[in-house]
Amino acid sequence: MGDVQIHALHAGGDLTDWGTFDPLDERAGEMVYNPYFVYVVKHPEGVVLFDTGAHPQLGTDAVARMGAAAEDFVVKLDPEDAIEPVLARIGLEPADIDLVIASHLHFDHAGGLYAFPETPVMVQREELEFAEDPSEEQRDIYIADDFAPVTEWRLVEGETDVFGDGRLTLVPTPGHTKGHQSLLVRLDDGQAIFLLADAAYLLDKMRIRHPPAVLWDEAAILDTWERVEALEREHDAFLITSHDLDYEERLKIAPRAFYE
Ligand SMILES: [Zn+2]
Repeated sequence: MGDVQIHALHAGGDLTDWGTFDPLDERAGEMVYNPYFVYVVKHPEGVVLFDTGAHPQLGTDAVARMGAAAEDFVVKLDPEDAIEPVLARIGLEPADIDLVIASHLHFDHAGGLYAFPETPVMVQREELEFAEDPSEEQRDIYIADDFAPVTEWRLVEGETDVFGDGRLTLVPTPGHTKGHQSLLVRLDDGQAIFLLADAAYLLDKMRIRHPPAVLWDEAAILDTWERVEALEREHDAFLITSHDLDYEERLKIAPRAFYE
């Protein structure tokens, strides 16, 4: 078993308009199943959870949880998609998580924070500030109740080596949001896996430089994509996005399989 492992866990999803992924896509207006993912990253110094998925209330009463914006898409969450049963698939419970890292604080990434009130949560300082006072267009997709339970923020600024050994590196990837970050993981054999979260929704769209509809700053996401591809080349990294529509074919999904 590798010292460092990545377990990608599918935690529900929604039906979203193709236009959300790319307003220029010819399928805009058609709905497509958009998965949510969280990742357990095991490291000798601790067990890390990268993102926490959506709050279970979104599956039962989305409008009560997020307001009228929930009418723009169809949430597909079962009780088994809440963070506790998702972790249980690989034999873990919330108390086993030593550190939560938030790529960003949108509802489909921060909704499971309620299960970690005592756990440190690492986030870029700019992301927390943006989440607390979002731009007009993003006001509906940050739910303050998602991140209210956190008692110990570990605010980071810029690139951060999580355990000081070069195995887990946080890379700022702004554009989708102001303080978005991605996690570059180096496995035991040297293979690099870059957990992009929403730095890009779909890799195909990044390759052709079509920004998504949910965007804080277009110039920032274009810069981020240059940086992501530079790191991809430098480390020969395998890229994983949180909303990869081809997840079944492309990813090793826990508990069936994991990266090590
Ligand atoms: Zn997002």
